Amino acid sequence: MRTLLWFRGKDLRLADHLALRSATDQGELIPLFVLDPFFFAPARAQATPYRIQFLLDSLRELELALAQRGSRLVLAEGKSHELVPRLARQWQVDRVVAQRWCAPLGRERDRRVAEALEVPFELFEGETLHVPGTLRTTQGKPFAVFSAFARAFSAGPTPPAPLPAPERLPALPRGVSLPSSLPGLQQLGLQRNELVLTGGEQRARERLAAFLQGPARNYHEARDRLDLDATSRLSADLKFGTLSAREVWTEARAALSRRARPAVTSFLNELVWREFAHALLWEHPTLLEEPARAEWERFPWRGEGTEWQAWVAGQTGYPVVDAAARQLLASGFVPNRARMIAASFLTKHLLVDYRLGEAHYQRWLTDGDWANNNLGWQWCAGCGSDAQPYFRVFNPTLQAQKFDPEGRYVRRWVPELARLPAAHLHTPWLAPASALQAAGVRLGRDYPAPIVDHAAARQRFLEVAKKHFGVGRAPSA
Ligand code: FAD
Repeated sequence: MRTLLWFRGKDLRLADHLALRSATDQGELIPLFVLDPFFFAPARAQATPYRIQFLLDSLRELELALAQRGSRLVLAEGKSHELVPRLARQWQVDRVVAQRWCAPLGRERDRRVAEALEVPFELFEGETLHVPGTLRTTQGKPFAVFSAFARAFSAGPTPPAPLPAPERLPALPRGVSLPSSLPGLQQLGLQRNELVLTGGEQRARERLAAFLQGPARNYHEARDRLDLDATSRLSADLKFGTLSAREVWTEARAALSRRARPAVTSFLNELVWREFAHALLWEHPTLLEEPARAEWERFPWRGEGTEWQAWVAGQTGYPVVDAAARQLLASGFVPNRARMIAASFLTKHLLVDYRLGEAHYQRWLTDGDWANNNLGWQWCAGCGSDAQPYFRVFNPTLQAQKFDPEGRYVRRWVPELARLPAAHLHTPWLAPASALQAAGVRLGRDYPAPIVDHAAARQRFLEVAKKHFGVGRAPSA
């Protein structure tokens, strides 16, 4: 049996890879990665620079790991749905195997590949802890509410333990050439950004171990703090599959269960949010275009005006919102609480369409993931199936004072305010002239005055929402 194992960017590992296990159990193996212009054409790569950097790191390590075990990663350039069937024919494989994708783009690609292939195309699980679409209500319907989904999740089977990486792999069969090599960042018109996490299975496992030995123990209390490195930073690893969700789940349970029950429960709960996001997108692929709740269709969102531009550039005059915007552009990461504050500000204070924010995050986040990103934006905007109620509008100042109490987060990303004392840092527009002068800040020149007033913006959003929903039609919490 000759198997073509197609790595597709959400499974860049050798451990706990069910398609790889199935292929190594049975004869000859050809590991393939397609350099599809959809991602790798320079203009496309430049549109998602940090993910491409992480992806190339991970592929380089995968190449090495396969070679160390006696195989090779075959790289080929072309459109996946044309190239994979052509190579399968050329190399006379008996079947093609891969890990299943939840996202609609991948499902459509797989449909086209399956149609064009003359041999079986077998998809294996591994993106999520459980097979997407299998967790349903007792009436057989998809869950719309997280708490019910989480209850069903815990009542279900424990995610299986992860498989170890194979120690040896079969050599490439004769006649299989290596048509391409990995492009360097510069070939794609990009430069390395040292603030972006290094990709690859090895580094992912080190990140997991460091988290479990340190911040994990206090995760439940510190995870929302913007000034502490209190979370796992595994989101890009989970997105690219440099670690499987099952490995993270199993290791976290094993490492923490005895001594830190609330912390482990809280961390595992976030992995269940990830499952929920993937289940929602699996069940409702249109979520990427439309709000989950029909009453939000045609909501009078605004577009890309000057306020949108101020939000993107980190020039809204609300330091915590600006810190999040600038951190995103500079490093490809934003902590969850800051994502929530920034997304709430864009959609509620500025009334800008959440889909613009979602696309902007999808472009710049290293962990940019269709399912999680969409869930996050729809939750913050209020239109998600289990979202923050529309009438709850975050106060960015109170959020900043609570989650960045000494202002370390804001000082790092908004350096022009760094010398303001903590008491004024989150509200420079209220600071006395003497404090601004002592800190070298001229409001309106070094740093903007707020582009909207919080109370007025909140009121405006509520009025627009009430008018849109009409009396008696407002969505319930
Ligand atoms: P940890 O706190 O250590 O959590 C562990 C893992 O659980 C994460 O790596 C992630 O895979 C998962 N997770 C955590 N929180 C959530 C959540 N709310 N929803 C779904 N999964 C979660 N996450 C992404 O992975 N990609 C995105 O594109 C993305 N976009 C977001 C956009 C918005 C507006 C919001 C509010 C949230 C978004 N999130 C996204 C969720 C969350 O912010 C990140 O997963 C988290 O900040 C990553 O940091 P971490 O790995 O240290 O998380």
